[in-house]
Amino acid sequence: MKIGILAVQGAFVEQEAVLKQLHVPWKEIRCLKDLDDHFDGLILPGGESTVQGKLLKELDLFQPLLEMIQHDIPVLATCAGMILLSEKINGQPSAHFKTIPMDVKRNAYGRQLGSFHTTAEYKDLGNVPMTFIRAPYVIKADSRVTILSSVNHHITAVQYRNQTALSFHPELDKDLRIHQDFLGRCS
Ligand code: GLN
Repeated sequence: MKIGILAVQGAFVEQEAVLKQLHVPWKEIRCLKDLDDHFDGLILPGGESTVQGKLLKELDLFQPLLEMIQHDIPVLATCAGMILLSEKINGQPSAHFKTIPMDVKRNAYGRQLGSFHTTAEYKDLGNVPMTFIRAPYVIKADSRVTILSSVNHHITAVQYRNQTALSFHPELDKDLRIHQDFLGRCS
């Protein structure tokens, strides 16, 4: 098994550290040629979604990655990655991959709660530690989207077909179950 990690910007090194702990090989996706290898799963890391979206287009990665997602490669997306997948971005005229029928709000926790840590219930896993950094949350999701977790009545994790999208950063906590769950879908 091999996982592709989008590595054009943001927190990809932290994702690599988790895969290393779990003894799973990965490949950084930085340019079109990196897609020549076969991957069994795709990680879209945190970072700055506007910059990532722009770089994806400039590097000609947008269309091939969109097709991989549409063709059901398992995806784990954290924070900026969640924004990249969302069909709508609140207050913005356009969005990115638009492969999850939902509406997200960027930097949704405002300045004071820009970053925080909590523990909350996650579907089938029980309590999971969650680190939020200038995080988005889901304002509205289509009924076909499964809600995996909510914090203070805001949706913070969803599953839609092949895609798991999280507001928070599981790679920054010691609990590896969300990654293990994702890897279980990749073989
Ligand atoms: N605020 C960032 C954005 O809007 C996301 C933050 C993150 O990925 N930690 O893209």
